[in-house]
Amino acid sequence: MRIVLLGPPGSGKGTQSQRLMERLGIPQISSGDLLRSAVARGTELGRQAKGAMDGGRLVEDSLVLQMIRERLGEPDTPGGFILDGFPRTLAQAEALERLLRALGQPLDAVVQLEVDSAELVRRISGRRCCADCGRVFNLFTSPRTAVESELCPKTGAPHRLTQRPDDNEATVAERLRVYEEKTRPLIDFYRARGLLRVIDATGDVDEVSRRLTQALGAPAAPRAPRRAPAATRVRAAKRRRASASARVRRSGRTARRVRAARPSGRRVRGRTAAKPKAAAKVRSRVASGKTRRPARGGRGRIREKRR
Ligand code: AMP
Repeated sequence: MRIVLLGPPGSGKGTQSQRLMERLGIPQISSGDLLRSAVARGTELGRQAKGAMDGGRLVEDSLVLQMIRERLGEPDTPGGFILDGFPRTLAQAEALERLLRALGQPLDAVVQLEVDSAELVRRISGRRCCADCGRVFNLFTSPRTAVESELCPKTGAPHRLTQRPDDNEATVAERLRVYEEKTRPLIDFYRARGLLRVIDATGDVDEVSRRLTQALGAPAAPRAPRRAPAATRVRAAKRRRASASARVRRSGRTARRVRAARPSGRRVRGRTAAKPKAAAKVRSRVASGKTRRPARGGRGRIREKRR
């Protein structure tokens, strides 16, 4: 399966991806982990990303996209993957869609993890990661035994728990603001594609895992009625305005013709008073006193009446 986990920082994307990875046997691709590793290794990407990460801002789309493109090119991805923390902007989502279409590997599901903001702050402040294997724990929610006595699969020693430098109060506020501004719009993007599932990600971790599994097996949230792209809507509105003003111009011309057909000081009654040629003829004949009626009757007849 090819899955995207969407959700604000602290919603449990990392924890749930790790569990899904073990259950489905597909890799977890966390853009945050990849960037942190680039920073730790001191690569050019890490050097360019560090400032934004420390400030709780997003790393430039072009850098993240290049990194994800390379990662999706690795041999463990054709059987499926879980994207955690990517995409985070509409530009990233559109680029991912193009990339996966080119690879012939479209997404199967996008799951949005919903958690209220007070709970997010509490979770983030309690979050600790093992410096060696990257496993995520939470001082408030993980079982005490797991935090204290579990051994790190990399070192065989107890986990070395560290707090992420961007999990501090000021940076967290900025990360939540950035999420609302840049990432929340992806919910509608994926709903419109019929890929979105939304789960309540509060409460017990096992319970959230169950909801996630259920959501992945369930049909997606109904698509919102599809709106035409903005450019098409603008063109259609322009066309509507143009044809409305053409109607106004036409009716103005008709009104002018009717007025032009009226000899001054006289009232014209007739079914075809708007026909300019016939009206002009009438005017000239009436003006020269030759007739009080048009020469021909029938449809073109216009009766003159002195007031
Ligand atoms: P995370 O571990 O997912 O919370 O990501 C940590 C930080 O890495 C974020 O606050 C961003 O600065 C950066 N980051 C991770 N993923 C992305 C992404 N898809 N686009 C831009 N920046 C990202």
